[in-house]
Amino acid sequence: MAPSAHPSRIPGFRGRLLAPGEPGYDRARRVRNARVDRRPAAVARCTGAEDVVAALAHAREQGLPVAVRGGGAGVAGWGTCDGGLVLDLGGMKAIETDPAARTATAEPGVTWGEFDAATQRHGLALPGARNTDVGIAGHTLGGGVGDLSRQYGLTSDNVEFFDLVTADGHQVRVDEAHHAELFWGLRGGGGNFGVVTRFGFRLHPVRTVVAGTLAHPAARAGRVLRQVRDWLVTAPDAASVIAVLWTAPPLPFLPEELHFERCVTVIPTWFGPAAQADEVLAPLREGEPAPVRDTVTELSYRAYQRLLPSHPDHTLQHVYNRGELLPELTDATIDGLVSHWQTSGPNYSVVLGALGGAIGRAPAGPTAFTHRDARWFVEICAQWFGDPDSSAHLEPARKGWQALQDVTRGPYLNLLPDPENHWVRAAYGTETYARLRRLKAVWDPGNLFRFNANIPPAPAKEND
Ligand SMILES: Cc1cc2nc3c(=O)[nH]c(=O)nc-3n(C[C@H](O)[C@H](O)[C@H](O)COP(=O)(O)OP(=O)(O)OC[C@H]3O[C@@H](n4cnc5c(N)ncnc54)[C@H](O)[C@@H]3O)c2cc1C
Repeated sequence: MAPSAHPSRIPGFRGRLLAPGEPGYDRARRVRNARVDRRPAAVARCTGAEDVVAALAHAREQGLPVAVRGGGAGVAGWGTCDGGLVLDLGGMKAIETDPAARTATAEPGVTWGEFDAATQRHGLALPGARNTDVGIAGHTLGGGVGDLSRQYGLTSDNVEFFDLVTADGHQVRVDEAHHAELFWGLRGGGGNFGVVTRFGFRLHPVRTVVAGTLAHPAARAGRVLRQVRDWLVTAPDAASVIAVLWTAPPLPFLPEELHFERCVTVIPTWFGPAAQADEVLAPLREGEPAPVRDTVTELSYRAYQRLLPSHPDHTLQHVYNRGELLPELTDATIDGLVSHWQTSGPNYSVVLGALGGAIGRAPAGPTAFTHRDARWFVEICAQWFGDPDSSAHLEPARKGWQALQDVTRGPYLNLLPDPENHWVRAAYGTETYARLRRLKAVWDPGNLFRFNANIPPAPAKEND
């Protein structure tokens, strides 16, 4: 029988298939960004690697484009497409922790909240995203930065193996000993090389963290960012920080007088001995300027990871955010960021996050994540509800990251909404980009996996 484009006929597929007109389709086609409105031929909710193999075979036979969705937190819109097959891995949620070996395996639908819940039962953790509803899959494949990264490296630095379904439908175990070049490329190369159906991670002992929020009024922003920058220069690897320039939502950790006002929120973390926290964090908590509200205290790691709430329905939120990796924060960069924020609307915000430590100490070129000498990531965000006209919101955000182009090493893959090829190249640098193109030509020569920060396969002669 000839294969059918109708998804209910995919041979061997055991998961749920949602085609246009079926209940649930409209929700299933959406991603975490109301700006993205695409209509795939079907959404294939995979239950395991065999479903991935079956769905990919169907897509190849029918010539359907393929979009892959893991935890579903990506706002760039790569997790859906027009007229193609979406492989939704969100239901693949198995996690197994081996406390003695300090390792865990996890399927690609697992979120950081679920991963932390499983590993924290054993007092173990992995550098991961700060929000519980971000998926481990896209996060790890794009590099992965978390508060523990200065101590233990990127999330992708802690991968021991990937189980992968390749573009031609083979299932392979990828690690240091098997397909070493692919192992290099999967750690930072995004979803370009296949569908990961299981991750194997190394874990670290983490039970508590001294952390919280330090709130400052907007007028102090320039001084606060200098204070944070100067503190980081000598801060131990077990310490990290993010600083947020935003219009404050009415959150309990912010003083009422700052609600709905522009405000700076500094969030330091200290994973070292709690007895040393006061000394390490003193410059941020007691230095000049001192915060107007200080909620820093010892927390369980899971309580800290829940500190920043997410909106309950992301599909209603319009988002454009882009991250840049900076080797340093000069006074001029700080002043530029602050003045642009202060003159932009309330939907514009900036997040500065510490890098360095173990990220930068890794030997050169161990993974496809390139700009390891960056000391800061700067995330420029526009987020709004309701207004379908994006232009007024997008313009300040675009100006925000464009102003950093003279000082950035390149964009950060996990926060890159602009799919143009030169930005993907800038994220990797010329050498790594060329190496990734050669790898792509080996594992996905037809560019089946192209809804991502796409790496075009190298032409055949380059790959000889
Ligand atoms: C609220 C929020 C907080 C964030 N915080 C951080 C942070 O602290 N640090 C940080 O580094 N990043 C952070 N990010 C960015 C985040 O890491 C990326 O958006 C990441 O892609 C999310 O992974 P996901 O699996 O949930 O996303 P998805 O949308 O499911 O996946 C994104 C893309 O990754 C690829 N992909 C996903 N799963 C697979 C798979 N199994 N096999 C092959 N390809 C796959 C696909 O191309 C897919 O389109 C944050 C994002 C949000 C929304």
